[in-house]
Amino acid sequence: MTDIEWARNVDGSRGKTWNPVVGCSIKSPGCIHCYAMRLAWRLIAMGQARYRGTVKKVKGQVVWTGKMVQAPEETIFEPLRRKKPTTYFVNSMSDLFHEDLPDDWIDLVFAVMALSPQHTYQVLTKRSARMRAYFQRPDLYRRVLFFADNSLRAWRPELRGIGIDDPARSPLKNVWLGVSTERQQEANERIPDLLATPAAVRFISAEPLLGRIDLRQIIREGINGAFVDNALDGFVSNGCGGSYGPKLDWVIVGGESGKDARPMHPDWARALRDQCTAAGVAFFFKQWGAWAPVGWVHAASTGALLRPDGHVCRDRSQLAPSGNYEMARLGKARAGRLLDGTTYGEMPRRAA
Ligand code: SF4
Repeated sequence: MTDIEWARNVDGSRGKTWNPVVGCSIKSPGCIHCYAMRLAWRLIAMGQARYRGTVKKVKGQVVWTGKMVQAPEETIFEPLRRKKPTTYFVNSMSDLFHEDLPDDWIDLVFAVMALSPQHTYQVLTKRSARMRAYFQRPDLYRRVLFFADNSLRAWRPELRGIGIDDPARSPLKNVWLGVSTERQQEANERIPDLLATPAAVRFISAEPLLGRIDLRQIIREGINGAFVDNALDGFVSNGCGGSYGPKLDWVIVGGESGKDARPMHPDWARALRDQCTAAGVAFFFKQWGAWAPVGWVHAASTGALLRPDGHVCRDRSQLAPSGNYEMARLGKARAGRLLDGTTYGEMPRRAA
């Protein structure tokens, strides 16, 4: 079972993580304090051999080595043995579309997901360009079928009765695709790729949220210059007007937790909530993380003076004219997940 608040089964019980691959490398500022990296180090110390070589220590800090390891068959095939409908967060210890992952490994993951329609899979990536390119491969369907027939149906003949549609033409109904967007820059880079990728449910995870994001103003570079799209209603501009296409179905927001966590300005979270509410898009506030605003949550002392641009001020002379917040370091459990006194836990509609 997983503690990840948004990986929940239909009945609200806790879902699971599924790691057909482990190992990764830093991609963008949201990765700097990667939880999986530190966990991998601890798992090695606990004797989990499959993590060996994926991390090392440099000047006392744990870092990824970039080595990727495919899980043993019993792990890869685990969802096929499980009958109870379960929500799986895929690759919590890696990135399924990491540039060094062979296509074959991704094909096998999609074959497993296609042959277990009783489950829901949440796939979150920071490598949106590779995800988009993967779905544009002309031989995608043939390759997924190859693994389904030769690796999986040969092992469990009862899986032969489950049909598989071409994932590029008819998205797998049980697979949700998402991208991490910690700042506007990453939102601009990754959301256009996500919206151009076929998916039953498209979501973003703005965690750790490191800056203000406007999802109605996604700036996309095109051959004829930059265009501004609205990811919440699907409006895509083309320079002389535009048209409506796919939009986001779900937005997750969270602050950073852990020893070196960076505080999240309350107005960044509020802005995303308000944008989603106005557009009718499901909004999930996962956590404050290590820091919470003083006054909202009981806090004995202040720890950081935070400007609206995210700068942590050493003294009051650095504060902005308005919009500053005093943040207290409480730890994830005490900081909780109330935003303006409300718990936001909306989920997207599951495909029928
Ligand atoms: S992509 Fe995910 S797993 Fe990989 S380094 Fe970044 S946060 Fe960690």
